[in-house]
Amino acid sequence: MKPETLLHPTQAGLYCPAGDFYVDPIRPVERALITHGHSDHARPGHGKVLATRQTLDIMRIRCGAEFCGSEQAIDFGERLVLNGVGISFHPAGHVLGSAQIAVEKDGMRIVVSGDYKRSADPTCTPFEPVACDVFITEATFGLPVFHHPDPTDEIARLLTSLRQFPQRSHLVGAYALGKAQRVISLLRRSGYDRPIYIHGALSKLCAYYESQGIDLGDLRPPTDDDQNAQDFRGAVIVGPPSAFNDRWARRFADPLSVFASGWMMVRQRAKQRGVELPLMISDHCDWPELTATITELKPGEVWVTHGGEEALVRWCELQGIAARPLHLVGYEDEGD
Ligand SMILES: [Zn+2]
Repeated sequence: MKPETLLHPTQAGLYCPAGDFYVDPIRPVERALITHGHSDHARPGHGKVLATRQTLDIMRIRCGAEFCGSEQAIDFGERLVLNGVGISFHPAGHVLGSAQIAVEKDGMRIVVSGDYKRSADPTCTPFEPVACDVFITEATFGLPVFHHPDPTDEIARLLTSLRQFPQRSHLVGAYALGKAQRVISLLRRSGYDRPIYIHGALSKLCAYYESQGIDLGDLRPPTDDDQNAQDFRGAVIVGPPSAFNDRWARRFADPLSVFASGWMMVRQRAKQRGVELPLMISDHCDWPELTATITELKPGEVWVTHGGEEALVRWCELQGIAARPLHLVGYEDEGD
């Protein structure tokens, strides 16, 4: 069997005709398998949804109780058969609940890695390599220039800034699912034990992470009812990046703009956003992680999606691994 027969791109997303299901479809479909809760992968409105318990919970928190017709949870490593197609989910190390999905029929196994990373993250289960004939990889940071530093060192830069500028509110932009909790968790692990103020858009997800055993410490809403802006001097306030552009942010004294994203490697991006302290913390693989993963897996073929497709395809070919871009549309990850 050719791998394209088992799984191929369509307008709605990756489709498996034999199993009659889609992976991370961008349009409402009858049956969807979802890798993780970021909004470009986990859209509401599908009939049946199969995902990890945590991804299903996250979808409900973000999209409401009616996010799909019916849901089914699957554990990491559990095997299901759908219309003769074997399916199993494996940790992707991207955000809480994130999974790679292995699809298998007649001895052919394709692994859809969704979004993934290899660097340590205390807020989710680490990536697990799964041997396969075809490995579908993202390439968000698929250029050799992308090397993400150790996230602990990046957090140390934030702590240094807090010591240097004790009068300034440190406004940390971080995506609501995954990055925000990772930044908070890294701060706690670095010994920061003061209250951390979080924007309302983060509260349900942070509470959910806590319920799953991830300790985020003392989190508070930055209410300004009976306080004045003075109270937030020297404090850490975490919010979605957009929150710091609106009225909400005016309550903070002498704000210092921080942004945690893999894109902060690109100096121009930090400058455009007016970021004073860019933290290069990414939930995606950088170039060394992408190439090390492919080297480790030695798949027969690599299919590359979103990002630096050409460079990674070329790199694979130079290693003697067949590769092609998938040209899937509709994935602009919110959690970079
Ligand atoms: Zn993602």
